[in-house]
Amino acid sequence: MSDFTRDIKGTSGKRPDSMVFWQLNNLCNFRCEYCFCGEEKLSKEHPDCGKYGPAHIAGCFNDTGKVWQVHMSGGEPFLYPKFVDLCAELTKGHFISLNTNLSTLNVREFANRISPDKVVFLNAGFHKTAREKNPAGIDHFIEKVLILQEKGFNIDVGYLTYPRLLEKMALDVKYLKSRGIKLVNAKTFRGYHNGKKYPAAFTREEKEFIYKYSLDPREEKVMNTSVNYFGNPCRTGMDYFRMDPSGNLYRCSSSYKRYGNLLKGKYTPDKTPAPCPLIDCTCPYEGFKYVSAGEASVIRVAGEVLNEICGFPNRGVSLRKVGRYVRKRF
Ligand code: SF4
Ligand code: SF4
Repeated sequence: MSDFTRDIKGTSGKRPDSMVFWQLNNLCNFRCEYCFCGEEKLSKEHPDCGKYGPAHIAGCFNDTGKVWQVHMSGGEPFLYPKFVDLCAELTKGHFISLNTNLSTLNVREFANRISPDKVVFLNAGFHKTAREKNPAGIDHFIEKVLILQEKGFNIDVGYLTYPRLLEKMALDVKYLKSRGIKLVNAKTFRGYHNGKKYPAAFTREEKEFIYKYSLDPREEKVMNTSVNYFGNPCRTGMDYFRMDPSGNLYRCSSSYKRYGNLLKGKYTPDKTPAPCPLIDCTCPYEGFKYVSAGEASVIRVAGEVLNEICGFPNRGVSLRKVGRYVRKRF
């Protein structure tokens, strides 16, 4: 039985009652070919990144009266100004989790200052191609994973099953384990490669190979399920939000519906689960966790669809973005 979990280990003590996925910055020092963000976004920091200090940000979460799991992703979160101070402030009353490439020097400070009991999980992306550009890149990565592992953090290394890297995966995983890393998880690539849409384009053999290396039971579902929850009640917007670097809250990764700006003290969640207004749940992990069975009335569904359409300008849908979306697919 693997120790892999995306939940808090153990059942005693306080637990988060809400979660926010905060894309806190744009900047990243890597340029992975499969990155969702794109070169332009990764090279220039978001103008609102670092606008508020750690105490102000933690205070905004405290003011909601809830205990949060603040999941931080970027860009590369460790490049956020005073990032370890921010984690220290947040973990006084809340929990955190991270997606990171573990490439920066302040990882050691994080390991020394932050309590593993307040960190739900650390997902350390392996990103082999980017690491190999520096002769010691892979060693530095392994060293940091081992430090965090030793301190008791719930850390796993994510190996993205990008089609071009698949044939190297077995050897790479074996190597990482031989160096003492306990949890290496194959993470399903979702996106376009050579005009094909993945995971649908993986062959049966490739899928079986990937299952062997997936520690997360949800990966099999990600690989095989068409994720369309249109009309089903979903607790995103109530117990879960996406937050952009400015603090704007959205319902989920797919939705444009707004819920205020948490970092300006404006937070207006739904009071009951609202029906999903979309035919493609682009981040299935969100749907798996927050959707429940049941049907909403036609009027309620129509209302949510309308809300969704009205929200388009909120995320700056532009012709350029539409062009990029089309280019990726053809
Ligand atoms: S490390 Fe993550 S954010 Fe940075 S380029 Fe790679 S995938 Fe993108
Ligand atoms: S089912 Fe998926 S797309 Fe629909 S609201 Fe929930 S998380 Fe968003």
